Amino acid sequence: MLSIKNLTAAIGDKEILHDISLDFEPGKTSVVLGPNGSGKSTLSATIMGRPDIILSEDSELTWNGVDLKPLSADKRAKLGIFLSFQSPLPIPGVSVEELLRVALDEKMDPVALHKELRLLAEEIGLAEEFLTRSIHDGFSGGERKKIEAIQAALLAPSLAIFDEIDTGTDTDAVKRIAEFLHAHFPKDATRIYITHSPRLIELIKPDSVIILKDGKVVAKGGHDLATKTIKEGFSNIHSQLTTHNSQQGTA
Ligand code: ADP
Ligand code: MG
Repeated sequence: MLSIKNLTAAIGDKEILHDISLDFEPGKTSVVLGPNGSGKSTLSATIMGRPDIILSEDSELTWNGVDLKPLSADKRAKLGIFLSFQSPLPIPGVSVEELLRVALDEKMDPVALHKELRLLAEEIGLAEEFLTRSIHDGFSGGERKKIEAIQAALLAPSLAIFDEIDTGTDTDAVKRIAEFLHAHFPKDATRIYITHSPRLIELIKPDSVIILKDGKVVAKGGHDLATKTIKEGFSNIHSQLTTHNSQQGTA
């Protein structure tokens, strides 16, 4: 389980996340919603261990009881934590196949990886050339997100965070990515989707929905909270906090 308690995070002098407490359980799918700039990407980067994010003394962040705070991002990745970035950066000269060979740490034979990657690319609807070109270099939004999904499937993380996996993807690609992830993910993995897409939310059927606003958790609830919020907007969200918090203690 991912447990976040009294988490307050700053970048430079700017405090971005304020006193966040959330639990994410194994096998459960959560959706994090919130207006632009509310801190969703900062929260995901904090969980992954971006080095320029500074936590307050009393912030707690544990994964299956292990304190994540002293661990660098690569150590967190070794514990099975995976983050798909909102805007994945290109790495000139490194293909997805090369990157995965290193990330899998020789746990998979290169020939088997080569074969498996091609099967996965075919399944998600991505031409083979994207596996050998420099990763994300000149890729369209949809192509980037499909590559992220393929990496998630191969790494089989026990905690996966998808920061706007639907951004830049067309409706058919969203469906394909959601079905692909559903088919390839271990059932007991903890999944966190940051998204504004009603279609993606419909497809992933979240167990819990969390609303972030101005760096604070302002509401928690079930699937219906996402539907209502997307329909009505974030402006009257404060009134929902008491109702949903009292119904559901954990995410
Ligand atoms: P969201 O993903 O919900 O749109 P972000 O987490 O990207 O929000 O951003 C939350 C706030 O943190 C914004 O006000 C943004 O400008 C600020 N922020 C993000 N990264 C940095 C940074 N490197 N330096 C200063 N402020 C930042
Ligand atoms: Mg964001």
